[in-house]
Amino acid sequence: MAKLTFKYATMNSGKTLDLIRTAYNYEENGYKVLVIKPSIDTKGGEQIASRIGVSKKVDYLFKPEDSILKTLYNKLDEVRCIFVDEAQFLTENQVDDLFIISKVFNRTIICYGLRLNFQMDAFEGSKRLLEIADVLEDLKTMCACGNIARYVGRKFNGEFEAVGSEVVIDGTEGFEYVPLCGDCYLQKVKKINYDLVKKRGVINE
Ligand SMILES: [Zn+2]
Repeated sequence: MAKLTFKYATMNSGKTLDLIRTAYNYEENGYKVLVIKPSIDTKGGEQIASRIGVSKKVDYLFKPEDSILKTLYNKLDEVRCIFVDEAQFLTENQVDDLFIISKVFNRTIICYGLRLNFQMDAFEGSKRLLEIADVLEDLKTMCACGNIARYVGRKFNGEFEAVGSEVVIDGTEGFEYVPLCGDCYLQKVKKINYDLVKKRGVINE
């Protein structure tokens, strides 16, 4: 039985590089792979591009209303593995499609994506993957303070923001995503004063 895997992380954890490297390993061994991604992410167009400069062509882009099952069911001959980039932007139905493909067609599927948005909420696709994926793998990256970063903050013009629309594509002018550990998220994004919480059990004066 083939598995649906979700490799999740925060920003700048090398997700895309891991995808390209793993896909290359399959191809080097003579296996055919497919690379798909949601079309909501316009960064890189029909290529997925790692920050260190390697890239790979995307075979299929999916809009939120598209059925992955209907698009791929007759295109899986000789395909050994399906890679999904930016899986956080999939819909719940599309994740269910991937689970069905992994089981009915016995194809390995590896999804890469962000677990949480900048407000600590799971994206729709990530939430469904966390619920139903056969395998969950945490790709680690580091906070500027040296702790493991599991969260992401978003800066606009150099200041962390606590509210705003969920999707602003990385690289949009003025915006910057920053991987953060739990302490740095609470202190820098939520502006929580640890001394006040310890002394009085309240977050604000
Ligand atoms: Zn930190």
